[in-house]
Amino acid sequence: MIEKYLHGVPFLFFENLLQFNNLTHAISTRSGGASSAPYASLNLGADTEDAPERVVKNYEIASSALGFNLAALVASKQVHGNQLAVIDDSFIGRSTFAVEPLLHGYDALATKKPGLTLMVRVADCVPVILFAPEQKMVAVVHAGWRGTLAGIAGETVREMVLRHHADPGAIRAGIGPAIGPCCYRVQEAVAGVFKRETDLYTAVFRESGGELFLNLWEANRLQLLQQGIPDCNIEVAGLCTACRPDLFFSYRGEKGKTGRFGAFAGLGT
Ligand SMILES: [Zn+2]
Repeated sequence: MIEKYLHGVPFLFFENLLQFNNLTHAISTRSGGASSAPYASLNLGADTEDAPERVVKNYEIASSALGFNLAALVASKQVHGNQLAVIDDSFIGRSTFAVEPLLHGYDALATKKPGLTLMVRVADCVPVILFAPEQKMVAVVHAGWRGTLAGIAGETVREMVLRHHADPGAIRAGIGPAIGPCCYRVQEAVAGVFKRETDLYTAVFRESGGELFLNLWEANRLQLLQQGIPDCNIEVAGLCTACRPDLFFSYRGEKGKTGRFGAFAGLGT
């Protein structure tokens, strides 16, 4: 990823997505906002205990820096599931952003509609951005361990391919900053359910000093490969949110008292 400052606010961008003129995307960091500790400072989390007016202010800062219209921002209340909402004309003018999202229960959003900005909010969970250049379809995904177990990134690609005729060989993907294999210690029960229900176990779990560590970056990368996205089309940020509290909010790293950063993507008009 590369970092750029827009209106004095730092954002990160996937190099493999920057080349497309009709795609806009960004990952926010924790800097440049209006909130104070433990939410300092660009907290985009609607469900945190931060002052709502500061969260709204942070959305205004992000939207003016990135140049999108807040009325066209689409987010969902996320539930660690595997449901995808495909956003079409029926959402225009109805989207709300910060405190009460219009959508509830979707951890992936996709659209072919230019002019909208889709977002997911994270602090350790994996944000994934997907773009099908020929079909001009974009998607954002929120995948924590439950979403990863449910295969949400792969399911989103499947939907793009089967229902919207995207060519998996042409899809570009960015796997954003999230808690890394260095820091993501999990309970044996989590490892057990991955062992029983997926074919990922050997590739994504590591044992060290009697503890189990899960590699969510790799799990999501493998799910995208399984759907036919070529390895060279997948960019992995490789940035651990728990190792970099200077850059990101980390739920685990800050013991639950923290904000959320965002992954944004939309199609140009
Ligand atoms: Zn780490």
